[in-house]
Amino acid sequence: MPQYYYADAHCHLDSCAGVLLPHILMITCGTSHETNLRSMRIAGENHNVYFTAGISPQEAMRHPDIKIKLVEWEEAISSLLADSGRLVGIGEIGLDYHWAKTEEQKHLQYECFISQLQLAERLSLPAVIHSRDAEEECLEILRNFNIRFMMHCFSGTESQAKEAASSGGTVSIPPVSGSERKKFIASLPLEKLVAESDAPAIGKTPEAAAESIKMIAQIKGLDEEAVRKATLMNTILFFGIR
Ligand SMILES: [Zn+2]
Repeated sequence: MPQYYYADAHCHLDSCAGVLLPHILMITCGTSHETNLRSMRIAGENHNVYFTAGISPQEAMRHPDIKIKLVEWEEAISSLLADSGRLVGIGEIGLDYHWAKTEEQKHLQYECFISQLQLAERLSLPAVIHSRDAEEECLEILRNFNIRFMMHCFSGTESQAKEAASSGGTVSIPPVSGSERKKFIASLPLEKLVAESDAPAIGKTPEAAAESIKMIAQIKGLDEEAVRKATLMNTILFFGIR
């Protein structure tokens, strides 16, 4: 295992290329068939990058024929697992009620989410969950699956964060503060937390995960070095990186 300084548990290197910092372990996440393939290429070219592949809720609602599309896309994901050796999870997948306004859009997201969770179960991979204004619904669905999952950029309540952590979930902290986020960072055990940049959407580059680490350390009253090491180890264990 190479010596990493810290880990960024969630970023999108396909849209912030040129920031492949060799001292950071990075998990780059696909959101569509095309970005899944791009993520695989980036992971293949960089020893410190692993990737996840999935169809995001925003992508799902663009395809009225999502069930048909998923047959082809999931077959592709299964072969990425066999071919690349660097696929470490299914994601990001989930529900986004901020963007889904109609019942039809919510339905397409739901169909896609369920199908991808079944895929994660079949492939014995952990799932990276995107949930926006739909935390309760996502947690409810996840209860029916026997998989490890990570709530990426978690923005729910303290009690939902606790519920996620107690049912096998890991909670991922972006470099953005907030009163509810402070509460669950304080109350969850450090073993249940990882740090992410979500670059380029939230942080500009994966280096922004260091800000998440700093925030966790401050809120928990811990040494930054200890949080850096712990969140790195949590990321390695969660994704089963060897
Ligand atoms: Zn993301």
